[in-house]
Amino acid sequence: MPSADDRRPPLPTVAIVGRPNVGKSTLFNRLVGRRRAIVDDTPGVTRDIREAPAQLGDLAFTLLDTAGWETAGGEALEARMRRFTERAVDSADVVLFLLDARAGVLPLDESFAGWLRKRADKVILVANKCEGRAGRQGLAEAHGLGLGEPIPVSAEHGEGLSDLHEALARHIQPMAEEEDEADGEPGEGDGAEEDDDPSRPLLLAIVGRPNVGKSTLLNRLVGEERVLTGPEAGITRDAIRVEWEWKGRPIRLVDTAGMRRRSRIEAKLEAASVADTLDTIRLADVAVVVLDAANMLEKQDLAVAGWVIEEGRALVIAVNKTDLLADDQAAASRAWRKLSDRLEASFAQVKDVPIVGFSALTGRGLDRLMPKVFETYEIWNRRVPTPKLNRWLREMETLHPPPLASNGRRIRLRFITQIKKRPPTFVVSVSQPEELGGDYLRFLINRLRDDFGLPGVPIRLTMRKPKNPYAGRARKR
Ligand code: GDP
Ligand code: GDP
Repeated sequence: MPSADDRRPPLPTVAIVGRPNVGKSTLFNRLVGRRRAIVDDTPGVTRDIREAPAQLGDLAFTLLDTAGWETAGGEALEARMRRFTERAVDSADVVLFLLDARAGVLPLDESFAGWLRKRADKVILVANKCEGRAGRQGLAEAHGLGLGEPIPVSAEHGEGLSDLHEALARHIQPMAEEEDEADGEPGEGDGAEEDDDPSRPLLLAIVGRPNVGKSTLLNRLVGEERVLTGPEAGITRDAIRVEWEWKGRPIRLVDTAGMRRRSRIEAKLEAASVADTLDTIRLADVAVVVLDAANMLEKQDLAVAGWVIEEGRALVIAVNKTDLLADDQAAASRAWRKLSDRLEASFAQVKDVPIVGFSALTGRGLDRLMPKVFETYEIWNRRVPTPKLNRWLREMETLHPPPLASNGRRIRLRFITQIKKRPPTFVVSVSQPEELGGDYLRFLINRLRDDFGLPGVPIRLTMRKPKNPYAGRARKR
């Protein structure tokens, strides 16, 4: 086997910067992976910039951690900090600027932001410690730093890494490569930390308009009165953490706007609630969007479902309060039909979104919810082997040839690979991507879904030109 490593250009570098205690080392360790136990956590040990090869999904890079500058002797703290940060920024291709969302934005964070703003093009703002509710405030403050939208993560719990992946992928080329026919084992090369740990709980969000019954549903599911429901408006419950098990599988409720009781007469999702819901969705694996059976085609319902899809989460539609539908079977099935048609029409990226109807109040029908959640979760986690995908691609090319390009040559579909699960994300390399057109892409997405059994989850497909700096070989095992 020729060593492809020799042909490979140096890996891009990613630096983690931020004031002490925001979680730089924790994130560093997470991205570098358990296999490399390095960290010297003895307080007071002087470290220079630490670096190690790291990987997130299909992105490989050299990670620089600037933690430790606080103990380097000499100059004043702030001057040292600045020197280290500037060094990291100069030597890195991408900078992860870490905040502690629980602590909020502190003056030191603002100093960092000030130095980083002139290189904002390579800065990704990351709000750490966002598990549970406590990061909410800091996340909101972080928007004000002028460094774009913060990415909520929990370095400690491994949450939010797929969004971090997405942000990094805008700066770093993934390692997908054309000759690599063998690269197809399930699970290979994916963000192992986040994905393949069987003890990791399923992160579940229950979202929807106020009063659709989210809290009632949650209470039913966990079987105890952990969350308040009922007429008391405006009760705020912070940092509730709900973990439970379903048939031996751990589940963690990410958060829900229903935990923050809102006015019952409130007709609209106000801005804060929208932000809550979005953050919640972004931290979840599966989002259950709860609708009210008596009133289930509200614009807001579709908006919330749309966010779930946009954020690439697995979506389950839960129609609650079916006890209010009386016993008019015909009317119920008409309403059902209408709902699924409307979902179908609204979202091109997904088809066959699972819909489950029940009454959270009486419990009737509720036993169907969690099986659907896990079924969808599994599809969301599915990986299609590369050789299989490429045989399929050849078939598609024959079955439905791509159009001719403006130069008269037929556009060629060269190679396809799934670069990511959660959600299934594919890259197809195309001779003239700019000319292929949305219709053809939609055709490919629909066929991917049908041919590989991926209903109900958003499928992402992007095009790329064949040339790729990481062609050759990528991962060392
Ligand atoms: P550094 O000084 O920036 O390198 O920060 P560390 O990685 O040493 O983390 C500082 C503290 O924050 C430690 O006690 C970590 O356990 C804690 N921490 C790191 N990440 C998270 C997180 O995602 N959530 C919470 N709650 N704590 C975290
Ligand atoms: P949230 O704002 O989405 O968390 O909604 P709640 O769980 O607080 O429920 C709002 C109201 O709907 C409460 O009065 C609940 O008792 C009622 N509710 C919840 N689930 C059901 C149900 O399945 N059937 C009926 N009839 N009412 C329900």
